[in-house]
Amino acid sequence: MSLNDQVQTTLRQGFRELRFPRALEERYEADTRQAICRSHAVSGWVALAIYDVFLVTDLTHVPDVFGLAAFTRLAVVSPIIMMMIFIVSRNPSVFVREMATCVLPIVIVASLLFLMLVSEAPLRQYQHTGVILVMLFPVIAYNLRFRYAAFGLLVCFLMNAGAVMNVEEIPPEIKQSTIMLILGGGIFTAIASYRIEHQNRLAYLYSLRDRLQNDELDALSKTDPLTGLLNRRAMDEALALLWENPSQDAADVAVLVLDIDRFKAFNDRYGHLEGDVCIKDVARRALAQTRPGIDIAVRFGGEELVFVLPGLDLVAGCVVAERMRAAIEAGAMPHECNEPTRCVTVSIGVAAATPSDFVQPNELILAADAALYVAKRTGRNRVCSPLSLQPDETVQTDEPSLAVAS
Ligand code: GH3
Ligand code: MG
Ligand code: MG
Repeated sequence: MSLNDQVQTTLRQGFRELRFPRALEERYEADTRQAICRSHAVSGWVALAIYDVFLVTDLTHVPDVFGLAAFTRLAVVSPIIMMMIFIVSRNPSVFVREMATCVLPIVIVASLLFLMLVSEAPLRQYQHTGVILVMLFPVIAYNLRFRYAAFGLLVCFLMNAGAVMNVEEIPPEIKQSTIMLILGGGIFTAIASYRIEHQNRLAYLYSLRDRLQNDELDALSKTDPLTGLLNRRAMDEALALLWENPSQDAADVAVLVLDIDRFKAFNDRYGHLEGDVCIKDVARRALAQTRPGIDIAVRFGGEELVFVLPGLDLVAGCVVAERMRAAIEAGAMPHECNEPTRCVTVSIGVAAATPSDFVQPNELILAADAALYVAKRTGRNRVCSPLSLQPDETVQTDEPSLAVAS
């Protein structure tokens, strides 16, 4: 199933478990990882600052252990938070990232409760009121994934319930209501976490769907429907790109202009539909001689194909062109009107140049087209380059067999 299909199916069927099908989940991770890690790191610094500022509350709640409180906050928990920031800023896997982040509220809550339990100050019981804030923070500030948020919330709740039970001065009824309050807060926070993750994933699916559809339209607008080769517009873009970013070693770019011999007669003899089949076959055989992902194959118009071969000079371009010509002749597709072979053949003009301000892409194509003209005039079924021109011949731009935009 293509990624596009997976997106459509997931949008239709929903994703209550907050999981996409494998390939889609991987794409989601890859697309969101960097931004999430950056935001986790920023939120980590904010959490650290707020946590350390709250040291002032220890002065009123647990003044008898203030030295220990300062040590715990600044020398124990702060370095742990910094370590977590360091880990998430290195773009780790989702498990490491989310675990490192959900450890943060657990460590902070543990430190608050620890100070409450070791203190004997009369207001020490109010130390745990900060717990609910700490439990909210990772969900609101971090958008922590639901599973990890739920785990962190559960651990925080259990620690808090255990600590509250151990503070004698809190009356039993208040202990019960406090635990209920923390439990309710935890459940609401977990629900919020689920909904936030669901919304984030849904927004991602919609944006991915739009992007994939745009890519598809873009590809369609650059493809020739008959042969599947690129169209002329795509070729202009690719050539402009080559000229904008010429390779470091100033390598040549070879251009091949290929034209089927006596194709008008082929159409007259076998019909237009058979003509289309012939164009497809020629395109397939020529394409097989190119380097996938490197060479640019274009249906320039009618039965004319253009190949742009980056990194190849004139001689190397002629070698590829000759292989194409031979492969098409070897296909032996009947063409009674094409003497002497009586099968489909092509003529190819080749030119090459180093991308620079001195030679523009359209001039290179015109040079290859002029060479094609020579190939046609000197008998067809052959490869010609500007070197094949006779001394008295010049590049004919006024009656080319191709129309080239300048
Ligand atoms: P030459 O050997 O000099 O190239 O002779 P030719 O008859 O092939 O001349 P030319 O290249 O000018 O012929 C182009 C012909 O290609 C004209 C038209 O009938 C045919 N053609 C153009 N586009 C298509 C197409 O999409 N399908 C088919 N079947 N024929 C096409
Ligand atoms: Mg032609
Ligand atoms: Mg032709």
